[in-house]
Amino acid sequence: MSDAPVERTSLGIRAITKNQVEYASDLLELEDYMRRLLVMPDLSVKVEVPARMDDGRMEVFQGYRVQHSSARGPCKGGIRYHPEADEHEVLGLATTMTWKTALLEIPFGGAKGGVQVDARQLSTRECEGITRSFTSRIAIVLGPYRDIPAPDMGTNQQVMAWLMDEYSKRAGYSPAVVTGKPVSLGGSLGREEATGRGVMYVMQQYAEDFGIPYRDGRVVIQGFGNVGANLALLLHEQGVRILAVSDVDGGLHNDKGLDIPKLFVHSYQQRKPVSEFPGGDAITNLELWNISCDWLVPAALGGVIGRESGAPIVDCKVVVEAANSPVTPIGDKILEKRGITVLPDFLVNAGGVVVSYFEWVQNLQQHPWSHEQVNELLRKRMLKAYQEVLKIVRERNETWRTAAFMIALARVAEAERLRGQ
Ligand code: NAD
Repeated sequence: MSDAPVERTSLGIRAITKNQVEYASDLLELEDYMRRLLVMPDLSVKVEVPARMDDGRMEVFQGYRVQHSSARGPCKGGIRYHPEADEHEVLGLATTMTWKTALLEIPFGGAKGGVQVDARQLSTRECEGITRSFTSRIAIVLGPYRDIPAPDMGTNQQVMAWLMDEYSKRAGYSPAVVTGKPVSLGGSLGREEATGRGVMYVMQQYAEDFGIPYRDGRVVIQGFGNVGANLALLLHEQGVRILAVSDVDGGLHNDKGLDIPKLFVHSYQQRKPVSEFPGGDAITNLELWNISCDWLVPAALGGVIGRESGAPIVDCKVVVEAANSPVTPIGDKILEKRGITVLPDFLVNAGGVVVSYFEWVQNLQQHPWSHEQVNELLRKRMLKAYQEVLKIVRERNETWRTAAFMIALARVAEAERLRGQ
């Protein structure tokens, strides 16, 4: 991508989480050994992933699975297929999962996985081959009470179905080894749109508490995949105006609001670039930051709003981190000085892992829940975490991110202390 910001590197993503953890650890006066435990992974696996391509060649891809912490329960986190996925990025994302599960009080730890591959260039057969090969290489560290993957960028329900099938060949039928599966294979109703729905609940509550326009509000979203597209659709259904969205190829802008239901079909379901959709002006991902709005929602990659891009120019009241780590630490400081609130990733985008947890419970109980039950329990969990963070924001006059870190770190540290050596 020609307009990729310079801070969006895998080491950058790792540094983002490390830097923020250190600051919150100081506030909590955590012991030195605890800081090391909270930063370093429990286990990090790097594997070669051989797979046959459609033209008959064998290719070998690099794959990673990092288990950051199992102090509060089995490790939990998505698998990303992306050309830039590497051990630093995967560790940074695994760390974020630990804070997310702790903040939402889900009995899981944190993990993440990745394969260095451009999923868009793969045929279905190639994608299946890579998934089965990757699963067979990391199966030894997976398990319903050990480490439970889920979808992330470049992966989806189908990939999770192959993963479950491959794992089950070794361990017997094991739906609880992976979440984000198709509903017909034990997936949960409401999981597909859960992350977007969780973001929406947080936005609604924040709008009510801080007087930001919501139903008549203006929203800009970067990323039109699982998170961005489902969020856009849910917001649109509530009468919120989506001024612009983008994907990897560029964006689309219309100050009167985009026709989100049609764009959802065109881009999310039919996988066509958003910029090719009629009803708006084509823009670049950099131009997206200049659009005046109430809510700016990065829902694609990490590290995209920093000193060199985004932070000095964005024109919004709130940045809602639907992606993982989209705002860099320097970006955070710039936005704070500019009076723009950042609602942090591991609060805002936790809806996916909350419903993943519900899916795991349903799999273990072998008893499916209704869609309404899932959505209502999701709403309660998201708002409970939101209120807990807000309380610290008000009491300690810290940012939303620092407040969320203080809660999450304290919970993981307590579990580490109680479990002992
Ligand atoms: P996805 O693969 O479904 O969609 C990603 C979107 O981002 C696509 O529209 C893609 O074109 C776009 N994109 C990729 N590179 C881009 C770039 N350089 N500039 C602009 N757009 C770009 O992924 P997703 O599941 O929607 O995940 C998006 C983000 O949300 C990631 O950071 C992920 O870690 C995070 N997240 C996802 C979930 C989930 O349940 N899917 C949960 C929590 C957090």
